[in-house]
Amino acid sequence: MGPPRLTAGRVAAALVAASLVAGCTSDPDAPVASPSAPVDAPTEPVDPPPGSAEATSSPSAPEPTTETPAQPARRIRADTASEVVDALAGGIGPRPAATPAFRRAAGVVQRRLEGLGYVVRRQTVRVPAGVSWGIPVAGGRADNLVATLPGVRRDRPHVLVGAHLDTVPQAPGAEDNGSGVGTLIAAAEATAERPTRLPVVFVVFTAEEPRGPSDDDHHYGSRHYVATLTPAQRRAVRGMVSLDRVGVGRRVPVCSATGPPDALQRRVLDAGRRAGVAVTACESRTSDHWSFVRGGLPGVRLGGAPYAEYHSARDRPDVVDARQLARVGRVLLAWLAPTAG
Ligand SMILES: [Zn+2]
Repeated sequence: MGPPRLTAGRVAAALVAASLVAGCTSDPDAPVASPSAPVDAPTEPVDPPPGSAEATSSPSAPEPTTETPAQPARRIRADTASEVVDALAGGIGPRPAATPAFRRAAGVVQRRLEGLGYVVRRQTVRVPAGVSWGIPVAGGRADNLVATLPGVRRDRPHVLVGAHLDTVPQAPGAEDNGSGVGTLIAAAEATAERPTRLPVVFVVFTAEEPRGPSDDDHHYGSRHYVATLTPAQRRAVRGMVSLDRVGVGRRVPVCSATGPPDALQRRVLDAGRRAGVAVTACESRTSDHWSFVRGGLPGVRLGGAPYAEYHSARDRPDVVDARQLARVGRVLLAWLAPTAG
């Protein structure tokens, strides 16, 4: 639902508030500008009385000028990311792959992405039974969701942004990884009508969480994604960023799976500096970027700062700081922007 009768000043204030708002428990009644609303939107009611000559000739009506090219998006709407965190962790709760809760969560995510104009394709993954963080879990089938704007082809050069949707059985998964999925959806929103350096493929992965002790007992969804790429699709992947636990802390971790030198990690770190965000180089193999790196493709992880509620029933929405989601969004959008190297 759109904001009723916002003045330009209120729209600007709402944009600032949306980027600065603290925590996921932001005031749900606060006015929020729609992503496509220009700051100089008309201040009159949206629907003038039918046949009102005064309304149609109002000096505040937008002029039918030639369109200026859209600028790259620089900020996500943190409210969008927080809404997704609330829906997944507050509304649905624990959602291990191949459970009814996971399927409900996938439905929520698919509807949101389709509502933004994306085409969502499902990739079904077989997931084995196992023991996930100490609790037995059943095997079954679960889906990756692959979202692109219409016309984007995965066998043409593109970058990929991923986030896992599943959780361990005992955790509602606000930070791990409602935060990553929420930020992915907010980035999809921010770039839907804005230019990016390359087309973006957004993938919401299933079954990242471990089902056993070895390196082959996790990351099932992303390994399936990489394993099923055609040769042309493999050549077209120019970089993958995994958003995994991105809502705690003040600095943004940018993790290589292999340590330096890592050209993609360097580019993402540079993007963070251009965006004015404090970034920290790190090393991690415990997220979906590792499936890409293992498969010979460039991948890094954003996020992963330690937090006390990790993999516990206390991983609830109030753990996630919307200001940190906004910072991660700025790093990601700076990497996706046409100026990026
Ligand atoms: Zn995770």
